[in-house]
Amino acid sequence: MTGSFVLFASLFVSALFLGRGFCGWVCPGAGLQECCQAVSNKNARGGRCNWIKYFIWVPWLAVIAIAAVSAGGFKSIDVFYMTKSGILVAEPNAYIIYFFVTGLITILAFTAGRRAFCHYGCWMAPFMVTGNIVGRLTRSPSLHLSADKEKCVQCKLCAKNCRMSLDVYGMVQKGSMADLECILCGECVDNCPKKVIRYAFGRQGCDKSNEKRRR
Ligand code: SF4
Ligand code: SF4
Repeated sequence: MTGSFVLFASLFVSALFLGRGFCGWVCPGAGLQECCQAVSNKNARGGRCNWIKYFIWVPWLAVIAIAAVSAGGFKSIDVFYMTKSGILVAEPNAYIIYFFVTGLITILAFTAGRRAFCHYGCWMAPFMVTGNIVGRLTRSPSLHLSADKEKCVQCKLCAKNCRMSLDVYGMVQKGSMADLECILCGECVDNCPKKVIRYAFGRQGCDKSNEKRRR
């Protein structure tokens, strides 16, 4: 098991309790895209194009699984496998992959909208999306968004500021803040003038009764 294996497994586990928080707060690729936003800040289309990442993820995962089975399974953990003194970009040829990935992220941010790589190309996002789905199915307590639609004044600032170009206003009106593309970045929480949207931790779907109790 390599360092990547450990990282991807950790992302899956973290998503059970923190959703796609890694995408919102930690991922360096996200930081790069947010810098690109200063130049181009158009919405990403999303929709069916979001499925592109799974067409990358599934065959990639299948190849790893087949390779692991043909090698006789996982026998040890070596997080620094194929690195020189633990540094991945210690040799010039390693920069080819580095520049390919950062170049792809940058080009997509400029051409296909903000956080386009997160929507369409990221092979790490599906680990968190599946973790999030498993967390919801098992009703694990997790970090999520909650909204009190009665307080909404329909200014739509939440949707305008959403890093993932989601229809946050529509989500508030529907009474469901669960969207697998939401990265829990909190822009909608910060930009709502009426404090309609907030972070919550617990079982999703239990917020409505809690809101009523609070009023
Ligand atoms: S920003 Fe707040 S008040 Fe404005 S539409 Fe969104 S939820 Fe409603
Ligand atoms: S819905 Fe809110 S928390 Fe989720 S991605 Fe959009 S702005 Fe961020």
